[in-house]
Amino acid sequence: MAHILILGAGYGGLKAARDLAKTTPADTQIDLVDKNVLHVEKTALHMVAAGTAKPESVSFDVRDVIPSNVNFIQATVSKFDLENKKVSFSDHDDIEYDYVIVALGFRSEDFGLEGADEHALILQDLDTATEIYKTINKNVANYKTSQDPKDLSIAVCGAGFTGIEVLGELVDTVKILKAKYGVPEIKVTCLEMATRILPMFDEELSNYAVSYLEKNGIKLLTGAKIAKIEDGAVVYKDAEDAEHKVE
Ligand SMILES: Cc1cc2nc3c(=O)[nH]c(=O)nc-3n(C[C@H](O)[C@H](O)[C@H](O)COP(=O)(O)OP(=O)(O)OC[C@H]3O[C@@H](n4cnc5c(N)ncnc54)[C@H](O)[C@@H]3O)c2cc1C
Repeated sequence: MAHILILGAGYGGLKAARDLAKTTPADTQIDLVDKNVLHVEKTALHMVAAGTAKPESVSFDVRDVIPSNVNFIQATVSKFDLENKKVSFSDHDDIEYDYVIVALGFRSEDFGLEGADEHALILQDLDTATEIYKTINKNVANYKTSQDPKDLSIAVCGAGFTGIEVLGELVDTVKILKAKYGVPEIKVTCLEMATRILPMFDEELSNYAVSYLEKNGIKLLTGAKIAKIEDGAVVYKDAEDAEHKVE
């Protein structure tokens, strides 16, 4: 009897578990491990971050969707011992295996940018996405008392797929929050080092995105190389190496 250990119940791990449950001999032991019981649709995290989707609408209990011959274990992977075919966990006994599938996902990358760790909000999982919307909502609500324009200014760092998806959702969010709290215009600025957004698409398509976002009040700063992130400001350099700030 073979023992297959699948680490991570995201897209990769869950699909592997469901497929292997159909294709392996009946006596195969399949263990699917994740630190959370919830499978999170990571491709919808930008909506949670912008408040246009609730965390519960983009996640579901893994145990509701796995076949009966897959055993789910909630545990946090801490160490691999590939030589002895063994995985250790911070909250579970070691598990030995015949085959292991590592599908532990991605981590948000700040490329060591000064101040990013302390002063920026990262988008990585359900908790960090929820934290982004909570912060935006709290600051906009705070404006009436503080009258601080920074409470009405959102900076999105990076105009790749995720940054652009966040901006697309923020178009709706800022309208909703402006009406909800009766505040002036909420500024959204996106900083991107490349000279155009979505460089992986052809120019016509990326121009379409630019015109949609700009028409909806989003300020796109291309050719803007972020130098550091301070408390309350993104510092960037333009093409002439001159330093500017987005508060
Ligand atoms: C906003 C956004 C939009 C995206 N849109 C697209 C898109 O349109 N198309 C596309 O192809 N991709 C998209 N992606 C990328 C896509 O979400 C990832 O490539 C995909 O989630 C990776 O799948 P995975 O199974 O490897 O990992 P994940 O889906 O990240 O799953 C990893 C799992 O491992 C678990 N885990 C992590 N560490 C541990 C540990 N130490 N112990 C136990 N469990 C652990 C996590 O809880 C999680 O359940 C998008 C990503 C984001 C953030």
